[in-house]
Amino acid sequence: MRALRFRLYPNPEQQERMLAALEACKHLWNDALAHRKRRWEEERRSTSYNHQQWILTAARNSDPELQQVYSQVAQDVLHRLDKAFRSFLQYHSRYPKFKGRREYGGSFTYPQAYNGSVRPDVRRNRLYLSKIGNVRAVFHRSLPKDSTLKTCTVVREPCGEWYASLVYEDVVPLRDVKEVPVSRKVSQAVASPLGIDLGLKAVITTSDGIGVPHPKFLRKAETRLKRLQSSLSRKRKGSKNRAKARHRLAVQHAKVARQRRDFNHKLSERLVREHDLIGFEDLRISNMVRNHSLAKSIQDAGWGQLMKFAEYKAASKKGKIVVRVKPAYTTQECYFCGALNQMSLETRKFLCVGCGRTLQRDHNSARIVLKRALAQVGQGMPELNKPVETRPPPVPTTGRASPVAEAGTRSPVR
Ligand SMILES: [Zn+2]
Repeated sequence: MRALRFRLYPNPEQQERMLAALEACKHLWNDALAHRKRRWEEERRSTSYNHQQWILTAARNSDPELQQVYSQVAQDVLHRLDKAFRSFLQYHSRYPKFKGRREYGGSFTYPQAYNGSVRPDVRRNRLYLSKIGNVRAVFHRSLPKDSTLKTCTVVREPCGEWYASLVYEDVVPLRDVKEVPVSRKVSQAVASPLGIDLGLKAVITTSDGIGVPHPKFLRKAETRLKRLQSSLSRKRKGSKNRAKARHRLAVQHAKVARQRRDFNHKLSERLVREHDLIGFEDLRISNMVRNHSLAKSIQDAGWGQLMKFAEYKAASKKGKIVVRVKPAYTTQECYFCGALNQMSLETRKFLCVGCGRTLQRDHNSARIVLKRALAQVGQGMPELNKPVETRPPPVPTTGRASPVAEAGTRSPVR
């Protein structure tokens, strides 16, 4: 699967229709959510997707707002609500929220874009969207030829820019399906494997010993963001100037996000081009962000996006694999002898208690990640010339390694 995002430039009438679709989807979401809530609170009855689908079909005949929206786009709203409820019930995620009057961004999705409801036309630089029309689009990257367009999500950023996110699915011929190995073992030797340590000083350190400095896009824009934020909060509620200030702030936030996305696209492109196997630590980034005073720096690092980009880029190329390995003790384990070293989070360089070698911490953990990645696909470390043991990572004598410590960050200042 791969997702491509393109900027859209709707003309005024198209923009009007797109805004109306956003608004209609928001109302539908709120109505459907209220309906589920009421049925549960008053009758203790749960509501199925099919039930609401049936109501929607009936409502479309009498509701002019809904008639303006492509039918499957409306169905997708109910589908998403159903999914939100399921994950609330099964995984105790957040209860689905009502969408507020003051939401400036938003999106709607064509769930079966391949049926002709969405048609990209690269030659004429336009994207056909059912019920909206032929919208001018900039296709800055070529579309995949050997995959089918699955879904199209039209996004309005809070800064007012429009984007289309096209998701393509690779076509796997049916006869090839059973030949895909379950364990994802690699038969030939991997020519150029790479392990990657994620950090905050260097955003990545590779097992080849290369460190890429943290780009700090958010940190660099912070002064300007703070100024715009305080200018916004000084403006009177509901005033025109407040709307303008909010727009300026949203534009600045969008800029930071775009810089980070560009950076991660380029970095992941290079990693995937130069290496056949790439190992990352499988960090629970959302947990780290929730618990830590370094949340901003962690979010600014954009590790999750980098891994996602690398994964889908590798998936579309033959013989390229990205794996995620267990992150426990990657910082402490010595790459040469396997001894576990207790050290403070500030330590960048240390003497191994097992073999006495001097180790650069980030470089050492990148090599541990590489070792585990190779073991995961059934290969040994090339330099060691012997198979890697696939036992679970050793248990240290004292203390638990925190996920943040594994990421190579410093402890919070209290
Ligand atoms: Zn050692």
